[in-house]
Amino acid sequence: MSDPLMATYRRLPVTFTHGEGAWLWDQTGKRYLDALSGIAVCGLGHAHPAVREALCDQAGTLVHTSNLYQIAAQTELGARLTALAGMDRVFFGNSGAEANEAAIKLARLYGHHRGVEKPAILVMENSFHGRTLATLTATGNRKVQAGFEPLVQGFVRVPYDDLAAVETAGAYRHDLVAILVEPLQGEGGIRVPATTYLPRLREICDRHGWLLMLDEIQTGMGRTGKLFAHQHGGILPDVMTLAKGLANGVPIGACLARGAAAEVLGPGTHGSTFGGNPLACRAASAVLAVIEAEGLVARAAERGAQLLAGFRQALAQQPGVRDVRGLGLMIGIELDRPCADLVGRALAAGLLINVTADSVIRLLPPLILEPAQAELLVSELTRLIADFLSTTPPPAHGS
Ligand SMILES: *Cc1c(COP(=O)(O)O)cnc(C)c1O
Repeated sequence: MSDPLMATYRRLPVTFTHGEGAWLWDQTGKRYLDALSGIAVCGLGHAHPAVREALCDQAGTLVHTSNLYQIAAQTELGARLTALAGMDRVFFGNSGAEANEAAIKLARLYGHHRGVEKPAILVMENSFHGRTLATLTATGNRKVQAGFEPLVQGFVRVPYDDLAAVETAGAYRHDLVAILVEPLQGEGGIRVPATTYLPRLREICDRHGWLLMLDEIQTGMGRTGKLFAHQHGGILPDVMTLAKGLANGVPIGACLARGAAAEVLGPGTHGSTFGGNPLACRAASAVLAVIEAEGLVARAAERGAQLLAGFRQALAQQPGVRDVRGLGLMIGIELDRPCADLVGRALAAGLLINVTADSVIRLLPPLILEPAQAELLVSELTRLIADFLSTTPPPAHGS
């Protein structure tokens, strides 16, 4: 039988049937510790009763009506989310890329309102913002763009965590109207910028009248040990996008804005058929309630610190390990050689991990991870890394 699915993913040979908390089970009954959470999506773990209840209740009453009408669940979620984020308004879509599309459109309209004829957005090398044409253009990775030219105009790129490059761009490019940046880079290899980076970007944006637009699609919803990663820097963005962890697996994306930026998108300028429908919004509201009730932000910070310290200690004497870094439950272990093979080895051992940027093991476990599960993750993965390094040739000299 030919594969009915387009070959956009090289899928691992496993099918999961059910989950509970940080555990997943496959068709053979084998159990896996999930240290990836469906790529930072299922922060509450699998089959959380509060999410199930919200979904079942809403599915039994009303799933969708369209944005032609008032949607109480959307207004309620919007009020909760904007209050938590210190933002004024929100637009709901169905994915991260859509949330960023809304931000990009908002920035362009903001520029045109200020008389900038061809507004441009400053973006970063090594970034990831999605797979639609505008967001893949914003993405700083040629692999994501190759073959899809012509790309979208209106983006200027500088290195990440490089304030001098931003200042230089500001001095020469009078068409810039916004910066779109991840508070820490996820796909790019769990890169944590200097603590001064976001506060300084905030200053630069204020000086130029640019919008500071933070892509918190991966870093948001408690993942880094704050509800939003920019709270580590003590600043507020003008625009923030969310998606992954927002509804624990039900598709949703959000573009939040503050001040003048919140008033830019008016009737007819943007829209979405599904965006913010009652089902997705009820799920997201349930997620917010659980994050608060179970103290998941603090737990993510604690568990993240435990994992980081655990891996640093366990891997301190391990040749081939270049760096162990992260913030909260976004953890990267960089090896001195490509390590995509580790994903399959871990799967066989009952552990779900990810490798990004060729040689960075990326861990995004659920916020509900228990201390004993974190301990198990450290010991199992340490063993797998040692085994991998001893059976895989080191990189050629000089690379
Ligand atoms: C995953 C991700 C996106 C894209 O989200 P989709 O829901 O896959 O469209 C955008 N930005 C960042 C930082 C992400 O991690």
